[in-house]
Amino acid sequence: MHELSIAQSILDIITEEMRRHHVERIVSVRLKIGEMSAVVPESLTFCWSIVTKDTPAEGSRLDIVSLPIEARCLACDSVFFVQNYVYVCPKCGSGDLAILSGKELQIQDFETPDF
Ligand SMILES: [Zn+2]
Repeated sequence: MHELSIAQSILDIITEEMRRHHVERIVSVRLKIGEMSAVVPESLTFCWSIVTKDTPAEGSRLDIVSLPIEARCLACDSVFFVQNYVYVCPKCGSGDLAILSGKELQIQDFETPDF
C-alpha cells in the first residue's frame, strides 16, 4: 500500500514545518496531487489517520486537490488536458505526447487552530 509510505513522508515534512513555525497543533493539511500519481484519496486519508495517531497532527484532516493531467502533442504542438486517461491529441489524433503535469504530489499548506 503505497499510500501508507506517502502519508508517512507527508507527516515527516509537516512535523518539520510545525517545529520550524512553532506550531503545536494543526487542523488540516492541503495537498495537491496529480491524477497520474495513482494516489487514492480515500486510502491516503485513511493512512493519514493511522500515521498521525499520537503525533501533534492527530485528528487533522487532509484536503486533497486533484490536479488534471496536462499534455503537449508532439505532432501538432497543441496543449490540452487528458480526459479519462485517454492519451490522444484531441486536435490531430496523435498519441505521441509529452506529459507536462499531473505527476505532482505537493504539500500546499497547513492550517493551525489559530486561523
Ligand atoms: Zn496533435
